[in-house]
Amino acid sequence: MENDFSGELITTGSELMLGRMVDTNSAWLSETLGGTGLRIVRHTSVGDDLPRLIQAFRLGWEHSPVTVVTGGLGPTEDDLTRQAAAEAFGRELVYREDLADGVRDMFRRRGYIMTDNNLRQAWLPRGALVVPNVLGTAPGFALAEPGKLMVFLPGVPPEMKRMVRDWLLPRLKEQFPAVDRRIRTVVLKTAGLGESLVDNRIGDLMAPGFNPTVGLLAAPDQVRVIVTAEGRTDEEVEARLAPTLAELEKRLAGHVFAHGEVSLAQVTAALLKEQDLCLTILDAITQGRLSGALAPSLEPENWGGAQDLPWQPTLSGTMEILRLYAPDSAALQADEEDSWPSRRRGREIRLIVTARPDQDAPPPRPGETALVIETAVQRETLHQGQPLIRHFSLGGITGRALTRTSAMAIFHLWQVLSGQGDQ
Ligand code: ATP
Repeated sequence: MENDFSGELITTGSELMLGRMVDTNSAWLSETLGGTGLRIVRHTSVGDDLPRLIQAFRLGWEHSPVTVVTGGLGPTEDDLTRQAAAEAFGRELVYREDLADGVRDMFRRRGYIMTDNNLRQAWLPRGALVVPNVLGTAPGFALAEPGKLMVFLPGVPPEMKRMVRDWLLPRLKEQFPAVDRRIRTVVLKTAGLGESLVDNRIGDLMAPGFNPTVGLLAAPDQVRVIVTAEGRTDEEVEARLAPTLAELEKRLAGHVFAHGEVSLAQVTAALLKEQDLCLTILDAITQGRLSGALAPSLEPENWGGAQDLPWQPTLSGTMEILRLYAPDSAALQADEEDSWPSRRRGREIRLIVTARPDQDAPPPRPGETALVIETAVQRETLHQGQPLIRHFSLGGITGRALTRTSAMAIFHLWQVLSGQGDQ
């Protein structure tokens, strides 16, 4: 990678080691500093343990131009960051009267009584720069040399964030003027393909060291493809992004439903609105998950309601379900003209989920049935009202499988509405 402006983060505190505290500081710092072009290459977490803190600080200084440490600056015995920094770099701790005044002042203004241990916060390694903390009593500090910066900030997130914005970001620009990188990330959201299938199609674009980088983040109902490019100007970044995005769109055709953080349900709801359609759900499988996922995104005029149907393994698929349970029409015949409720004539679209036992599947776990799921989308004006049916197999009925079924059904509906599926 051509950008060697790299940095690392060290978070401290035994609570992190015990799992009682989640390290949100690292996530925020990575994202915020990454936006400046500083490539974060390592996160380290260390408990309140002096030798290990010293070791981590030395490693950070040795390996990275920029290291940001959070936590351990408070007044108590287990706040070891100042001492560890002093010992790591052979600088004695010196008492700073100006900082002591600042700590006393903060207590006075807040009307609190100050115990003496608070003055521990006035000791800093010799030669350290002070990083003011306007929201708390513990000042931060930094050690700087040409091409190196190590900054120590409190663990309390609002204090840390304010100090990053007010002090660290301007300091980075000032100390590393040659580094003026632009970074842009585009998230492609895909549905209908599992993580390994996505990987199979685009894995060769994900090799480390590429610019743009391409990464995957999988959830049960979608896979995010995260594309990040960097360059010296916005134009350079865009020029790097464009061919990779085009290639990804080509390889994942029919599956990319959005750029950015919107859900498939939201995108599908927007299409229903745009096409002025009213959705009715007939669902024998997901136990309300499907309507629960779609209904909140829909406008009342696009929502015809849902019927949760009992699943009947004797029924053979979607057509049977339609005949038996069609909304507003007790005995729907898909090919009969008057089978569509007149008040929504031409505007109704139905999403139907049903299933039959999967005879070919390996035996499921006891108490479960292997199913072939059928999702169907039916519209009067589409294929003369014949439903468009998709099949996929499920190992057994569990909560996760039902959620997946709901996601596949929405994906099917999206394909029809967006014209991306074979119709
Ligand atoms: P203080 O002056 O309050 O003692 P400090 O610099 O000593 O601040 P810590 O004692 O390590 O910081 O942490 C104080 C609090 O900040 C923790 O109890 C926790 O709520 C929060 N905190 C610390 N580190 C992190 C982190 N990595 N991610 C999220 N929150 C954190």
